[in-house]
Amino acid sequence: MRGRGAGLRVVGRRFAAPVMRGTRAMLCLLAPVLLAMAAGCAGAAGAPAQPSAKSSAFINGRWFDGQGFQPATWYAVQGRLTQQRPAAPVETVDLSGLYVVPPFGEAHNHNLEGPWNVRAVAERYLRDGVFYVKNPNNVRDFALQIRSIVNVPTSIDAIFAHAGLTGQGGHPVALYEDVLRLSRYEPAIGPVERGWFENRSYVVVETEAELEAKWPLITSGRPDFVKIYLAHSETERQQPPKTGRTGLDPRLVPAIVAKAHAAGLEVTAHVETAADFRHAIQGGVDELAHVPGWLIEGTTDVERVRLTEEDARLAAERKVRVVTTTVAGRAMPGAAAHQSHGHHAATGHGQPESAGMATQVLTDNLRLLHRAGVVLLIGSDHAETSLAEALHIHSLDLFDNLTLLKLWCEATPAAIFAGRAIGRFAEGYEASFLALAGNPLEDFEQVRAIRQRFKQGVPLSGAQLKDAAWSAASQSSQ
Ligand SMILES: [Zn+2]
Repeated sequence: MRGRGAGLRVVGRRFAAPVMRGTRAMLCLLAPVLLAMAAGCAGAAGAPAQPSAKSSAFINGRWFDGQGFQPATWYAVQGRLTQQRPAAPVETVDLSGLYVVPPFGEAHNHNLEGPWNVRAVAERYLRDGVFYVKNPNNVRDFALQIRSIVNVPTSIDAIFAHAGLTGQGGHPVALYEDVLRLSRYEPAIGPVERGWFENRSYVVVETEAELEAKWPLITSGRPDFVKIYLAHSETERQQPPKTGRTGLDPRLVPAIVAKAHAAGLEVTAHVETAADFRHAIQGGVDELAHVPGWLIEGTTDVERVRLTEEDARLAAERKVRVVTTTVAGRAMPGAAAHQSHGHHAATGHGQPESAGMATQVLTDNLRLLHRAGVVLLIGSDHAETSLAEALHIHSLDLFDNLTLLKLWCEATPAAIFAGRAIGRFAEGYEASFLALAGNPLEDFEQVRAIRQRFKQGVPLSGAQLKDAAWSAASQSSQ
């Protein structure tokens, strides 16, 4: 039901942009990019749509078995792992003592956006060993244009929520219409009218009747899951909303979850405070896109975000997964910095004392959830890849290296692509792995020392990563 693979899709004609000034300019811009991408699929960027037909033997590697590293020989046949030597000729790959781990996941990021940046973003993820990406809010039309470019063996695999559900004036309406429209989209696609994003990257829902009426719109473009926004649900809702962040009427959550589940779609909730967390869990969502404490806008927020033992127990009992996003707060204007080098957020209103308290309550919540048995997923929201998030969590000293590695290479990929044979090495599992120079259980920094990458039996150490410097230079942090 999720993680549909490499199926080709019709590029979103249905969502042609009549209100967009300069539509022709946009089409002119996009057409060559798409052609280049399509050409790239067969050429230097190298993207066979199928797993490698060649069989390989991987010798002399030390393979992660969930606890430690063991010497083993694995074969890749039709992109899958086996320990049975195939009858057909094999190409031998000597892993010469490297430490082999499953590829990493990114459970929350919006940077995979459209034809103009898909190649650079995908290359950056591959370079950092992050093969599986979940985008919990995106412009539907653009995702439909790139969906068949990703989800092939030589690129990352990604799933998309498309337009998230929020209340009138709720997050992320202003973010799209007032901020990203100008700073992110107009430079890429040309002029965009204010309001163009409604029903493309967010849908406003105030009542159950409106939910019914807009459901076909919400599920158009076949989202892989549904995203909802809760923000400060502890404050009384006012229409129109006064200042301050708001989201859906939390009373709508159970109805949304019921409709989504009936359609075979999981629900991921944006949350900011402990009240949001409680409404989401009680409403039956499957995943929280943040840990309360990720965004602290002042000292009064600190106690609003603190979770209780009961919160953690209930989340564990209902098997709700929680995405870490410890680096996300740094990128928010006015947020208290979560740590010393949070240079984005250190400016503005974030007073030093609230920054310290913010870090404290965030790490308290993470420890509490982990102790209660809640599945944590590694997701950065605002970093270039989840590498920054994993390294930041490591610096917070919350978990031992084994625990953190398992969250990143086992739990996160398995949650993004539930039901897929990824996240460990076993008979019939996908032949996707990273070979590291050193043992990440002894020195976590070794996760950056990637010497070889294979995805579904295809080596990724070739052409598509050579120009990684180009892709890094062409991308600026968002
Ligand atoms: Zn986000």
